[in-house]
Amino acid sequence: MRDIVTRGERCVGCRACEIACSYYQQKTFNPSISSLIIWRGNEKEGETGIMLKKPETFVLAYETGGVEEIREDEASAEMADKPILSRKDCDSCIKLKNALCTIFCLRDALIQKEV
Ligand code: SF4
Ligand code: SF4
Repeated sequence: MRDIVTRGERCVGCRACEIACSYYQQKTFNPSISSLIIWRGNEKEGETGIMLKKPETFVLAYETGGVEEIREDEASAEMADKPILSRKDCDSCIKLKNALCTIFCLRDALIQKEV
């Protein structure tokens, strides 16, 4: 089984992964349907990083380092507003030899691993 590792501290915010994921999901270039969101909140408060939607959870990999996996039903009211909760679950591009977002992330902020 394949999993996607998120390393927020390596992300430069180019958003190529969002485009790649939307192409995988629906053969279109539309970041708003991606299973990934490159999060740019209050940068002074450290609200930047990578969000990845998984079944019943989402991963939050901070640009400052550290990764949280948050269950949808435990998301705070503030987090419940985040569009990541309505995105399609990442299936690790199971139909492809390699996960598309990991190919297009030239910073290795997204990597695939077998688990
Ligand atoms: S492609 Fe990589 S570096 Fe670019 S926004 Fe996505 S995770 Fe960050
Ligand atoms: S592994 Fe595939 S489905 Fe998951 S975020 Fe990357 S491109 Fe999207």
